[in-house]
Amino acid sequence: MKSCPICSIQLNRTLLDSNLPAYSCSNCHGIWISANEYFSWLAPEMSVQNNEIDFARDFDTPYPVSDNNQAITCPDCGRFLRRFQIWPNNKFHLDRCSSCNGIWFDRNEWQTLQAQNLHKQLNIFFTEAWQEKLRSEEMKKRFEKMYLDLFGSEDYEKIKAIRGWLSDHPNGNRLIAYLTDREPYKG
Ligand SMILES: [Zn+2]
Ligand SMILES: [Zn+2]
Repeated sequence: MKSCPICSIQLNRTLLDSNLPAYSCSNCHGIWISANEYFSWLAPEMSVQNNEIDFARDFDTPYPVSDNNQAITCPDCGRFLRRFQIWPNNKFHLDRCSSCNGIWFDRNEWQTLQAQNLHKQLNIFFTEAWQEKLRSEEMKKRFEKMYLDLFGSEDYEKIKAIRGWLSDHPNGNRLIAYLTDREPYKG
């Protein structure tokens, strides 16, 4: 018997998507998926997992998600689940057991991923590479906002264009030296 990590009542056996075995809570509508069952369900479609996921696409939340933010434990092995952010600048989180790799979805979290066809690539989100990519994307966004505030949009666009031109230019260093020299015509 497995219990809901939020409500402590018994989870019910259920099938998601095209016959993915899972457990669901009749009270909070959370879903538990064990790693073994997830991977055997995925096995015929392993190629899907190797697709690159691009941040350029938006992460939509078409359903109201009730993200829990308490410390919850694994219905299978009792350890604390680790919270993973999965998209930059988005509060959407998944809870995953670092020991047995099972995943807990709060109400509508699975449906949200499914709606965006990301539900077959979940394992990518928990990799160090993805988490690192996510952090640097957020950092980039913060800097972008800072420059935008400092320069204003018109000047920011202009200086970005110049920067792009210079960085691709074979004579770039000399052009920068010319540009930053206050009196380039004085010997
Ligand atoms: Zn529950
Ligand atoms: Zn576990």
